[in-house]
Amino acid sequence: MNRINRYAGGLILVFLLLCSTGVSAGSLRGLNWFPFVKKQKAVKLRRIDDREFKRRLDSLLSFEMAKTFCVSTISELEEGPCFTHVSGGIDIKCDWVNEFEYFGTWDKGTVNPYKVDPLKLKTPVMLELCDKKDSTAWVFPIKKGRITSRFGWRRYRYHYGIDMKLRKGDPVRAAFDGIVRIARYNRGGYGYYVLLRHKNGLETIYGHLSKYIVKSGQEVKAGDLIGYGGSTGRSTGNHLHFELRYQGNPINPAEFYDLEKAELISGQYQIDEHTYAYVKEMRKRVYHRIRRGDYLGRIARRYHTTIIKICRLNRIKSTTTLRIGRRLRVR
Ligand SMILES: [Zn+2]
Repeated sequence: MNRINRYAGGLILVFLLLCSTGVSAGSLRGLNWFPFVKKQKAVKLRRIDDREFKRRLDSLLSFEMAKTFCVSTISELEEGPCFTHVSGGIDIKCDWVNEFEYFGTWDKGTVNPYKVDPLKLKTPVMLELCDKKDSTAWVFPIKKGRITSRFGWRRYRYHYGIDMKLRKGDPVRAAFDGIVRIARYNRGGYGYYVLLRHKNGLETIYGHLSKYIVKSGQEVKAGDLIGYGGSTGRSTGNHLHFELRYQGNPINPAEFYDLEKAELISGQYQIDEHTYAYVKEMRKRVYHRIRRGDYLGRIARRYHTTIIKICRLNRIKSTTTLRIGRRLRVR
């Protein structure tokens, strides 16, 4: 009897020990005490005209999607392609709105109707831009262009594209195969501009044109003429303002193109934290527009900073006259 008791006691002890180590290991893991860094898995998107690609796409995209759909009806014709009736009274082939969930948004007036926060990107997304060796799959939008302004801060405004010098009337061409989403005039900004949606997930913008020759809903091939260079809108000389966007958020074109050679760096591009690092940096900055009665001490107090810091950020002296309407960086 005694021996059985001792045997049972031993078993219970072993059981308790096992339980306690299990619990402690679990709680340690829960507290992230283990120095393991979770490796982010790259999501690879396949070539665009692959059927499987279309089927898988929705589940592959890792962004939280904008939920503003404006597609009203989808009509399936017995033969031939399926067409989708989108806002603005145009019918376009279904894949231009159904391919990506966020492409369900069709807006022929707003550059970024998607409202996707780029900093909420959870896992990297690999974009298959095109077959780089195929000379018909992509073109540089203008023949050659000296870069006159790069992507990034320009005084207190962010420049979301690159500016390339051209002569008025120079042809501007579609960077990839695509469909025209916007072709219109914007007085205070882009002037005459065209926005193309591409099947690789990107959208490209061509601004300050003297004229565009395409309309919303029209399909174009890489290299097709879409308009002519100019200086319309907020511009001080003939140049092309060129932007690349993914889900409405701009990406530095220098990430995609070797701007010296005017060619695509690779047929693929991985969107990850590094792509939108500028957004983080941008959101940190705060500006104050100078109003009547403002003085540096008051501005510094209002933003919980110091006069010295404001002077350093704006390269001014504490004695500089504050012009009403000027913007001062305060953070
Ligand atoms: Zn520009």
